[in-house]
Amino acid sequence: MNSITLYDSATHKKQVFVPGDPSRVTMYVCGPTVYNYAHIGNFRPAVVFDLLFRTLRHLYGTEAVVYGRNITDIDDKIIKASLETGESIEAITQKYTAVYLEESARLNILLPTVEPVATNYISEMISMVEKLLTNGFAYVEDGHVLFEVSRFHDYGAFSGVDQDEMLAGARVEVASYKRNPADFVLWKPSTSDEPGWESPWGRGRPGWHLECSTMIESELGQTIDIHGGGQDLRFPHHENEIAQSAGCHDGAPLARYWVHNGFLHMGADKMSKSLGNIVLVHDLLKQWHGEVLRLALLSAQYRQPLDWSTDLLEQSKSQLDRFYRLLGEAPDVLPSTPPQEVVDALYDDLNTPEAIAILHALRDRAMRMEGDAKIEAIASFKAAGQLFGLLTENPEQWFKGERVEEEGLSETEIEKLIAERDNARKGRDFAGADRIREHLRTHGIAIEDGSTGTTWRRE
Ligand code: AMP
Ligand code: ZN
Repeated sequence: MNSITLYDSATHKKQVFVPGDPSRVTMYVCGPTVYNYAHIGNFRPAVVFDLLFRTLRHLYGTEAVVYGRNITDIDDKIIKASLETGESIEAITQKYTAVYLEESARLNILLPTVEPVATNYISEMISMVEKLLTNGFAYVEDGHVLFEVSRFHDYGAFSGVDQDEMLAGARVEVASYKRNPADFVLWKPSTSDEPGWESPWGRGRPGWHLECSTMIESELGQTIDIHGGGQDLRFPHHENEIAQSAGCHDGAPLARYWVHNGFLHMGADKMSKSLGNIVLVHDLLKQWHGEVLRLALLSAQYRQPLDWSTDLLEQSKSQLDRFYRLLGEAPDVLPSTPPQEVVDALYDDLNTPEAIAILHALRDRAMRMEGDAKIEAIASFKAAGQLFGLLTENPEQWFKGERVEEEGLSETEIEKLIAERDNARKGRDFAGADRIREHLRTHGIAIEDGSTGTTWRRE
């Protein structure tokens, strides 16, 4: 097979993926809003689209794929976090951008080709709003600029959400400055203590949906090949991105294919901050190797729901142990190419359960081989794992990491965690400090704060 099939959520069909230009394949995924620690559900799109990025690169070549993922560093949630913690907006966004990138690296998520930061594109956003006003898709009211959905005939066609549903589900906000409750904000005024930029409509800030349309236009072009994100972003976020971009580009479509990942569940519900059933990646990484989290996130096909549990983590860990045990038999194999059957499973709408089952079969077969045939089989098995973004550790290191864990935390690790907790407290991140104390407690370490600093003992 030398083509990729993807389920396109605009047409609700599996389609053969045909890029506009195979020498420049473009993909954009809505990135994180950086104001707190990410939960493992937030990392499902990060890992899924990283795998799609790797798969596209495998087919079209490393240089041919341009992947953009933004950082949203201006948002009302960030303003609220700043008011609550007393930390400046800049300190918050810098801290959590760094945390997000560090955690991504631990899960072997490649850096996207471009990572636009929203506040670097304010003048481009203002130009886009001006264009929408000129083209008759927007109006100004009370310091706000709003997109007038009734002017865009296809509005709602993408997500299938009709206007009555929008209101019934309170998915749009009714406000005095709107002609229609479904109209959405392109630009809004800022009070003197809120962040803002000068604009033809006074000092203000952009609406969230506008940020993505602008960054896509600036970094990738008017029509991109793939637009991705979590399925909760279909409405209103992606519906609105489509309307804004088409309104600026004479109706040119924003994306040729739309790909949405399903939810990660915790018990019966979607994992989400508002339900309070979240597990932070920050905490999971203290106990589990990043590859364990990555394999767990890829254990279900990306459109299916995935139930998060300790069992899933344990199973993923033991699968990786089996894989690394095989690699341990020939730790220095030369780079090779992955077997076509694994590649084909990924080309089939990222069928990861199938690909993982093939990895197990290949592993079992290689275990039974001998001599050069075995070395060759191990090399191509390792290449398959690496296409997945796994098996990047040296096998000895992999199992050493495990022993340290079995014996409990080392002195250096404990000191490091205590220093991290001190930093968290200095930064007034008391919840973070408490999580570290709790983590130490679960490893049998008690700590005590005194006038000369923090002391610890094993219980
Ligand atoms: P949020 O922080 O809610 O804006 O989400 C950031 C990204 O994570 C979006 O792409 C969401 O679709 C995605 N996301 C949030 N919660 C989950 C979940 N439980 N499962 C899968 N994706 C999620
Ligand atoms: Zn977006």
